[in-house]
Amino acid sequence: VIGKHAGKKGTLLPLLTEAQAVCGNWLPANVLAEIADALDVHLSYLYGIATFYTMLSLQPRGRFIIRVCESPACHILGVENLIHVLEDVLGVREGETTPDGLFTLERSSCLGVCEVAPAMQINEVVFGNLTREKIRKVIDDYRAGRTVDFRKLPGSGGRVRKDLDVHRRAVLLHGVGDVDPESIDDYIQMGGYEALKKVLSSMAPEDVVEEVKESGLRGRGGAGFPTGLKWSFTLPIKAPEKYVICNADEGEPGTFKDRYIMEGNPHRLVEGLIIAGYAVGANKGFIYVRGEYYLSMYRLQKAVEQARERGFLGERILGSRFSFDIEIRSGAGAYVCGEETALIESIEGLRGNPRVKPPFPGVRGLWENPTVVNNVETLANVPAILRNGAAWYRSFGTEDSPGVKLYQICGHVNEPQIVEAPLGLTLRELIERYGGGMRDGIPFKMCQTGGASFGFFTAEHLDTVMDYASMQQRGGALGSGTMLVMNERTCVVDVVRNIMHFFQHESCGFCTPCRRGTRVLYDTLTRIAAGEGRESDLDHLIDLARTMSATANCALAMSPIFFVRTTIERLKDEYLAHIVDKACPLGVCPA
Ligand code: SF4
Repeated sequence: VIGKHAGKKGTLLPLLTEAQAVCGNWLPANVLAEIADALDVHLSYLYGIATFYTMLSLQPRGRFIIRVCESPACHILGVENLIHVLEDVLGVREGETTPDGLFTLERSSCLGVCEVAPAMQINEVVFGNLTREKIRKVIDDYRAGRTVDFRKLPGSGGRVRKDLDVHRRAVLLHGVGDVDPESIDDYIQMGGYEALKKVLSSMAPEDVVEEVKESGLRGRGGAGFPTGLKWSFTLPIKAPEKYVICNADEGEPGTFKDRYIMEGNPHRLVEGLIIAGYAVGANKGFIYVRGEYYLSMYRLQKAVEQARERGFLGERILGSRFSFDIEIRSGAGAYVCGEETALIESIEGLRGNPRVKPPFPGVRGLWENPTVVNNVETLANVPAILRNGAAWYRSFGTEDSPGVKLYQICGHVNEPQIVEAPLGLTLRELIERYGGGMRDGIPFKMCQTGGASFGFFTAEHLDTVMDYASMQQRGGALGSGTMLVMNERTCVVDVVRNIMHFFQHESCGFCTPCRRGTRVLYDTLTRIAAGEGRESDLDHLIDLARTMSATANCALAMSPIFFVRTTIERLKDEYLAHIVDKACPLGVCPA
């Protein structure tokens, strides 16, 4: 493993990941020392990296690592009880390994599979919609040697509903669930790589940037920055190297859309990334996939190899003067690596600490070179825009938010799922038409909009149009397009505490307001949940979250203000009930 990686740039994380796999799911001290010697880096430096990423372990672990998802979607659907079931079945506590060395039981901040919550992952394989019975059966199967090969799984495509009208599968989900994701011929038959051919044969990079600008496409990772504008900053810069990176580190709890594209139609992403490279003058691209998405990585790797064989990647693509190649990189369990500069640090083989900005990556990014970072869904739009034109793309959606969007609906609905729709759908429509209505008919109470980083809506906001401007005006966000729906039996203090635990756990520790502030927010919410809160805590929570937002280094610490403030403003009585009555009115919070 060392021989394979030695001498290559930024290869430390893949090296440690592979070494861990070879050593039986952990990194013994003598192996770390050997790697440090071979790479001529200090052991403490390697230790710093190995302890940053939660999927790496310096402690012995079992042959099968069971990661139970504790994200908000799994939390509200009862995952805590299921962890106790697993502890009973395995005979160990969380964090321990069974005496036969078969299983290690761990928690995961989020597995990115909220549509099948509650869920767990055993090595590469996800088991969703867990019940006590299902857990017992899965563990029995693994004990008996009946394991599952993740490469043979259908993947997300098998879950895309076929009865939805074509409008909802027009662009991003076109082909997902229909094409064989491991066949380049299937993709070509549906018009795949036509946009690349058109671009290379008849468009200058400036024309491509202009077309994407015209289309009004905005980043679909959460921030919504105009994509063409981002590309236009990097295109004119003269530099020996430029890079494009696809941010496929889909770690925001509630978000699972990018997985559908990567597992269901990976060539669409590959084509989008090649076009992005051409548009900004880059010859190398990376796709940085979150560590838990094994099937995505496997299929993307195949897609890249097939594209190389067919001349869509490599030297002088399709006879043009443009050369470009793609490397797939894996994360290793660090949410903060979804922040673009942290992701760049991670590709360079470092701890994923966000950089101080400016300079922005478009000017100085990977290995100090101009680098464009785009999300999976953003890039998956690009081939369709180039093939059909900006005017066609603008015919979907609203003036402020043109185009189509992948919405994700999860939580207390009958049919958690992914929906492709023009921007402009209302939250009520999403819940009732596509989410199948509220689960078991229990009335709606609240919804966290856009992902774990954003604000909560209550019933008065159900008719909000889900575009960038309307969501923001009402204290929510379109964000990644995910909507975590909760019924009236859900305790707001319990959910906000769960979300705060996530941010406290994922803070990289680089700056004090976030490292300390997330801990204080979590501790305060824990006190309120336990019936030990004070009324002044509510102002204190908002003040502290606001201070963090104004003084910390990256967006992670800017998130709590949105969900803390909107829930305290909109559901204050429930917070007060915990404080005045010294107990959870719904009997949800632990005493
Ligand atoms: Fe790290 Fe938090 Fe500071 Fe971001 S805000 S750099 S996550 S400590």
